[in-house]
Amino acid sequence: MNGLVIKNTGSWYLVKTEEGKSIECKIKGNFRLKGIRSTNPVTVGDRVKIEMNKEGTAFIYEIEERKNYIIRRSSNLSKESHIIAANIDQAFLVITANYPKTHTTFIDRFLATAEAYRIPVRLIINKTDLYDKDDWELTEGIRYLYTTIGYNCYLVSTKTGEGLEQIKELLKGKITLFSGNSGVGKSTLINTILPGLNLKTGSISASYHKGMHTTTFSEMFSLPDGGYIIDTPGIKGFGTIDFLPEEVAHFFPEIFQISHNCRFNNCTHRHEPGCAVLAALEEHLISESRYNSYLSIIDDNTDGKYRTGY
Ligand code: GDP
Ligand code: ZN
Repeated sequence: MNGLVIKNTGSWYLVKTEEGKSIECKIKGNFRLKGIRSTNPVTVGDRVKIEMNKEGTAFIYEIEERKNYIIRRSSNLSKESHIIAANIDQAFLVITANYPKTHTTFIDRFLATAEAYRIPVRLIINKTDLYDKDDWELTEGIRYLYTTIGYNCYLVSTKTGEGLEQIKELLKGKITLFSGNSGVGKSTLINTILPGLNLKTGSISASYHKGMHTTTFSEMFSLPDGGYIIDTPGIKGFGTIDFLPEEVAHFFPEIFQISHNCRFNNCTHRHEPGCAVLAALEEHLISESRYNSYLSIIDDNTDGKYRTGY
């Protein structure tokens, strides 16, 4: 039987079969997935084959190849990772202009991480009911910047309901990861879409996740019109990535595209002669905030030894 793993408690997995039945499964014997060192060989979002035992219990005996997966390092010392989820179709990053302010560095780090994981991102700009003239100016700037690079932006208010129909439409039939700084309205948004779920709003949501942090528990929430939601707190829930400095540009699509015209093919776009990225920055073809985020990620992964005065 084919099925989809929708819950992982650490000791057993809940698998939804193609016929729509939910079955508790164990993993067969010492079954391990090739190539990945992780504390859990199977995760939510995995498409699996299951078989019933004579005793009436079920076990997973095969996992389909994943199109992507997100991980969390078990500890700083350990090289073993915990796989949070697999086969994610899209990520929704919930942001707001000023309630609280979402900084572009945070957005860019999330986007770069998602690019590295090969997960498409949509930006959900929430709390539009609160926006004054300055907030709208900021929002239009954000919207223009990210739409130009290729990330779609959606204006919503969970309070007035503005834009929510379109969000529901985008969720249909997909596995969607929700992320965003605490306080931006993630839980409120998810509760509006899935009224039965009742995620705690406010700071309590954070403690709910704190509990999850040390355990191997994860779950996807099933949507009425098909599709699933995975809720993760901020970028931490998304897992950390150790970028190689020369790789970072790959995860900034507009920088990567222009970098093909750099004179040196190992150009890091910081000081090299003939750098097309620096030229584009001069001409405002690449945004300064994106470029600064690019530098800050390189800094993080090299202890700041490449910091420039830009
Ligand atoms: P989370 O930490 O991202 O899960 O944020 P919550 O969903 O807990 O929301 C934080 C606060 O923002 C709560 O007091 C919500 O009622 C409020 N909130 C959420 N969405 C909106 C919105 O669209 N407009 C307004 N005015 N408040 C909102
Ligand atoms: Zn360059």
